Amino acid sequence: MEKSLIKIFDTTLQDGEQTPGVSLEIREKLEIARALAKLKVDVIEAGFPIASPGDFDTVSQVAANIKGPIIAGLASASIKDIDAAWAALKKAERPRIHTFIATSDIQMQYKLKLNREQVLLKAKEAVRYAKQFSPDVEFSAADASRSDWDFLCKVYAAAIAAGATVINVPDTVGFTTPNEFGNLIKYIHDNVHDIDKVDISVHCHNDLGLAVANSLAAVQNGATQVECTINGLGERAGNTAMEELVMALRTRKEFYQAATGIDTKHIDRTSRLVSTLAGVLVSPHKAIIGDNAFTQESSIQQQGVLNNSLTYEIILPETVGISRSSIVLGKHSDRQAFEERLKQLGYDLDADIINRLFVRFKELAERKQTVYDRDIEALINEKADAAESYRLTYHQVVSGNQTVAMATVKLETSTGIIEQATLGDGPVDAVFKAIEAAVGLEINLKDYAIRAVTSGQDALGEAVVWVERDGRSFSGRGLSTDVIEASAKAYVNAINKMLAAGGGPGDVIEKNV
Ligand code: MN
Repeated sequence: MEKSLIKIFDTTLQDGEQTPGVSLEIREKLEIARALAKLKVDVIEAGFPIASPGDFDTVSQVAANIKGPIIAGLASASIKDIDAAWAALKKAERPRIHTFIATSDIQMQYKLKLNREQVLLKAKEAVRYAKQFSPDVEFSAADASRSDWDFLCKVYAAAIAAGATVINVPDTVGFTTPNEFGNLIKYIHDNVHDIDKVDISVHCHNDLGLAVANSLAAVQNGATQVECTINGLGERAGNTAMEELVMALRTRKEFYQAATGIDTKHIDRTSRLVSTLAGVLVSPHKAIIGDNAFTQESSIQQQGVLNNSLTYEIILPETVGISRSSIVLGKHSDRQAFEERLKQLGYDLDADIINRLFVRFKELAERKQTVYDRDIEALINEKADAAESYRLTYHQVVSGNQTVAMATVKLETSTGIIEQATLGDGPVDAVFKAIEAAVGLEINLKDYAIRAVTSGQDALGEAVVWVERDGRSFSGRGLSTDVIEASAKAYVNAINKMLAAGGGPGDVIEKNV
């Protein structure tokens, strides 16, 4: 049997950005797109151009700047959506318009208020219209897994006849199971005219925890493209996690007789970048990318791994880019050693960025005995924000079990320094209230999380806060060996992002595929 090549279609920037609480800035999306290109994904879905000016700009900047992968833009089956998608995509080396319409009876009746004949016609017309602009057109039948199989096949055949190059089978609501979905893919494969001339794609949601399993069942039954996101981000329970799907296909390649073009050694780094920028922490027992994924606790297993790592480890950590090297840097490391380590970690950065990172590295090394690779990566992901209305220059907190917490902060703005002191319910609350008083805004704090970047008492703490205004949420991050300082920086960062984005609720647009 010949090994089939499975294309990886990444939708972290589209479906993944619909993760509740996630709102990425354009430069953050560009950074993720660059990492995805390094990972060698086949397709990057960069956004939904008609949905908002921000989405439009993201798609056009990704299209203009990211070389290698196909760049896709989403559009519902309407002329104005497709026009917007093409306007955003036209600078891409390899553009793809991705158009969709729902085909399940429930969604046609209650969402679209159209009958089957009308939907069939719209699908055909949308693909034909998109095809005038882009030779590569993907067609999705939204809610395919709950659609009538014969009607679905009719719609796909019409889309292919109109010029679709990829037909996508979404399990939009995460309802299907592996056997059922595998059978559906086989049915489509056996009953749609000219199906062998196009890619069969799948797009699974994880509402029942089956997204990866359903995607693998589809691969066994003829799917040649899988849509997924880094860390499984996405609305509700998320999408197929790319790292799991890719590593399942790689680890069990003899069983699946399939391979992907993904450069797996970039998986761990890309996962951390997305987690940091999106502000969504990965649970420690998450497959492939969780902190515990390669940790052996039981001593029998540890001995086995020491004798031969494959005794218990089915994946070598190096395969996904986790280094076992014990090289650490400290306060005596010079700029050259620092730059050398950055190169070994795979970062290719401009000299002025390295200079700025080296200053941060020295500050960190003064406070922390050993600086690990993960600390360096955290510094790289931290980066200064483009628009900083406020900068935290000083903070002091008094707290204890017999006293009310009190915080003093100084914030630097373009017009001078603002100082405020307030009492609070614990040190973090006190410092947040002092910042709020200093900026003079009522801030709606939605969530707050803190974690250690590495182990040890002097570990770097990474704080993430989410604030909300007019129904939009903004995440802020802060990094320090002092958790109160990390929290305060994260809060100021979130406020800066909120102010940079301006007010006004975004348009609410249905973009469920
Ligand atoms: Mn989706």
